[in-house]
Amino acid sequence: MFIASAQRIAGRRFAPRWIARRGMASASSPYDVVVIGAGPGGYVAAIKAAQLGLKTACIDKRGPPGGTCLNVGCIPSKAMLNNSHIFHQTQHDLKRRGIDVEGVKLNLETMLKAKDTSVSGLTGGIEFLFKQNKVDYFKGAGSFVSPSQIKVALNDGGEAALDTKNVIIATGSEVAPFPGGSITIDEEQIVSSTGALSLSKVPEKMVVIGGGVIGLELGSVWSRLGAEVTVVEFLGGIGGAGVDEEVAKQFQRTLTKQGLKFKLNTKVLAAEKENGKVLLKTEAAKGGKEETLEADVVLVSVGRRPFTEGLNLEAAGCSVDERGRVIIDDQFNTSVSNIKCIGDVTFGPMLAHKAEEEGIAAVEYIKHGHGHVNYAAIPSVVYTHPEVAWVGQTEQEVKASGTEYKIGKFSFTANSRAKTNLDTDGFVKFIVEKETDKILGVHIIGPNAGEMIAEGVLAIEYGASAEDIARTCHAHPTLSEAFKEAAMASYDKPIHM
Ligand SMILES: Cc1cc2nc3c(=O)[nH]c(=O)nc-3n(C[C@H](O)[C@H](O)[C@H](O)COP(=O)(O)OP(=O)(O)OC[C@H]3O[C@@H](n4cnc5c(N)ncnc54)[C@H](O)[C@@H]3O)c2cc1C
Repeated sequence: MFIASAQRIAGRRFAPRWIARRGMASASSPYDVVVIGAGPGGYVAAIKAAQLGLKTACIDKRGPPGGTCLNVGCIPSKAMLNNSHIFHQTQHDLKRRGIDVEGVKLNLETMLKAKDTSVSGLTGGIEFLFKQNKVDYFKGAGSFVSPSQIKVALNDGGEAALDTKNVIIATGSEVAPFPGGSITIDEEQIVSSTGALSLSKVPEKMVVIGGGVIGLELGSVWSRLGAEVTVVEFLGGIGGAGVDEEVAKQFQRTLTKQGLKFKLNTKVLAAEKENGKVLLKTEAAKGGKEETLEADVVLVSVGRRPFTEGLNLEAAGCSVDERGRVIIDDQFNTSVSNIKCIGDVTFGPMLAHKAEEEGIAAVEYIKHGHGHVNYAAIPSVVYTHPEVAWVGQTEQEVKASGTEYKIGKFSFTANSRAKTNLDTDGFVKFIVEKETDKILGVHIIGPNAGEMIAEGVLAIEYGASAEDIARTCHAHPTLSEAFKEAAMASYDKPIHM
């Protein structure tokens, strides 16, 4: 029983004050679902469960809900990307548009505050949604006592135990340390993405270790604000897994024009702090040719890893694989029948929207016995300027599969809206099956690519052909006409190129 368990664990005679405050008089019956973690996976699952009439609790030790995404990920990084873009554009791009602005100055403190305000507004919004949907939100660390009981070490002190019929693990991921332990993150001079979102001054020189999405986004932010940024990447290209090679090459050229420097095929060996600087030892990825790079700030951006620390998975009996991911089947079931798992802590791309889709589907499995996530139609976006976005297979993947294919491309230099906006870098690329014209992948580098890719996702979700898109009327003048013309280019011919 809920209150009895809470008393037992907290060692108190009466139910703790927070239970009375929350008015949980009916707490004697177990929860239908307890969600551990209030990131995009967990909070969406909790709200959906409550909407479906399930008695639901959600636990998060961070306090403010929203997980990595809202607190130290998607949202603060996009706030910094947007405002640093406006700053850079004001400095370097307004004159040719007929706007003379004198004495443009950065007020970093205000920019960081604006970011924090976006974050607190959105996390507060989730707490409101929890209340509105009657999700009981527990701020504290959850751990398994058994598959049907979760202990919460409350942030305000004391403990609670929640009896439940089902559990959804949504404990997300954490920054992966530098492999081999030769570089230690101090969040001041050697920072992770979290520290890079709050630097108190613009570094003169910044080195980013890792040319994946997060490294490129945050490298762009500080480059626009005035830092000399060098990206060191072990592989021969940037953008991380899943990016089309042709797009990645264009992306690198564009960022280079913007002032970022790249050292590809380069391995970082170690970092030393000396006279207020960080000295980074590197060598060619294939060995030999050592070099030392000097930086004021080093951003270690070599990926993220699943987070299950403190969860006491052993008491539940759930298994993890060699990379620490909780093992699930295709219905999100762990090895224990009443425990499901979603988001970054299990398989698949570490993306907020993927976690959200899984949250909804996992709850639908609990309530209805069926749910749906189409992993072939999960978009990826890099929020630099221009943006990069894609869905489906890359050209190299299609080629490797042996499928015969056609390419349709349309450049933003031939799109009227992009030309009018003086923002023409990039292209839309369709990859379609030669025989059927079915869309296999869509890749965009260009203005608003992150919004435009939704049309590609929908097309793949519905199994559309390029002709379906090409025959769909798109408003003029819009950037999305480039999307239509790329589809025309793959099944027939574009008009404007
Ligand atoms: C800088 C950066 C930028 C990013 N940008 C994007 C982007 O633009 N788009 C995108 O799709 N993705 C982006 N991501 C990735 C995105 O943040 C994650 O994929 C997403 O947050 C995963 O959601 P989740 O719910 O699985 O886990 P998380 O968001 O990591 O949430 C897990 C939560 O569980 C809590 N928790 C863990 N253990 C316990 C416990 N035992 N008890 C209680 N609570 C616990 C944690 O405190 C955390 O709040 C970005 C990430 C970073 C770091």
